[in-house]
Amino acid sequence: MILVVNAGSSSIKFKLYETNDKNSPLPIVEGLAERIGVDGALTIKIEDQKYEYNDRYDNHLMTVESILKHFKELNVIKNELDIEGIGFRIVHGGDKIVKPVELTDQNKQAVEDNIKLAPLHNPGALTAINAFQKGLPKAKLVGCFDTSFHQTMPAKNYLYSVPLKWYENHKVRKYGFHGISFDYITEKASQILNKNKNDLNLVICHLGNGASMCCVKNGESYDTTMGLTPLAGLMMGTRCGDIDPSIIEYMAKELNQDVYQLTNSLNKESGLLGVSKISSDMREVSKAAIENHDEKALVALEMYTQRIAEYILKFANQLEGKVDAIVFTAGIGENSFITRKLVIDKVHLLNLKLDNETNLREYDDYLEISTNESAIKIIKIRTDEELMICKETLKFL
Ligand code: AMP
Repeated sequence: MILVVNAGSSSIKFKLYETNDKNSPLPIVEGLAERIGVDGALTIKIEDQKYEYNDRYDNHLMTVESILKHFKELNVIKNELDIEGIGFRIVHGGDKIVKPVELTDQNKQAVEDNIKLAPLHNPGALTAINAFQKGLPKAKLVGCFDTSFHQTMPAKNYLYSVPLKWYENHKVRKYGFHGISFDYITEKASQILNKNKNDLNLVICHLGNGASMCCVKNGESYDTTMGLTPLAGLMMGTRCGDIDPSIIEYMAKELNQDVYQLTNSLNKESGLLGVSKISSDMREVSKAAIENHDEKALVALEMYTQRIAEYILKFANQLEGKVDAIVFTAGIGENSFITRKLVIDKVHLLNLKLDNETNLREYDDYLEISTNESAIKIIKIRTDEELMICKETLKFL
């Protein structure tokens, strides 16, 4: 079995896979431990059954011990040796880590070195890695990084037009995120389109609560919308995306706030939530805009979709118009027909034709939503980052 772990500073999300068939691992259990260090709440789901526990755990190690104890009680595992590998989702691998790696001391050090670049994300992952290493000392630990897929970007796309010394001495560059999802989608699109990955050009819109897009050229990341941090690019649930950097200095004076307070507002109080003043959740915002004709929600929806449309055009231009497909994925991309429609309506110049019936239709795995007249195929695909991490981890066993 392989355990896939996505850990934050106070939570551990996990999914356990049975891997008898190495080509299609089967998820058998999933769960979430929350409020680590506060009081503790653990949910384990096996098929339709949900088990809830309120064990007290003060740290990640106690949480791991509690998860393993309940796995045994529920007959999910007989003993610790059943879990042969653990795959961790890690946000930042910096510019050294270009693919999934075994979490040796040296690679763990790299995760630690990148805390500076991802202070909100890497510390939780590192604490969880150490806890699982103690709890399951025989398991192989593998790290999959959100940044590594984008390490193929050329310098002209990853550099900022700031003093080059900032890059040379302080590693200020575009890293990009959501790489595990973009990697999965590229693989999946290659199967769907029956085209070799090395010849595949895509524009992928990963629209979740966090959102970014990737320009995939010959199967590799050529450009992306997020930057040094996940704050850049598209408008998101609560993040601002691209803004004039001088806003920070101006608002610091206006509000008498420091840069940390302002960055917090740009991360947590902006985007759909900030503009609509209603919610960060696209379901709520689109409902308010369309059913209640709420003006602020309408503007938020227009801004959100306009920016995606413009990046589609930018990336299609970078691919010299040779785009095999435009893909929509993640919570909003997979489920919000209105977002997809508003985006495609705003892409002029590319002769895209959305099929309104398939755009609305329910689907499991993926569905083509363009008509035969569309110059470029448009597809909605359900992403599966956990499965990607599981498969990458299996390669190390
Ligand atoms: P994620 O971060 O990928 O889980 O995506 C979360 C986002 O997906 C939230 O903004 C949700 O509102 C949005 N979402 C999930 N389901 C739907 C749906 N059926 N229609 C519109 N948006 C949805």
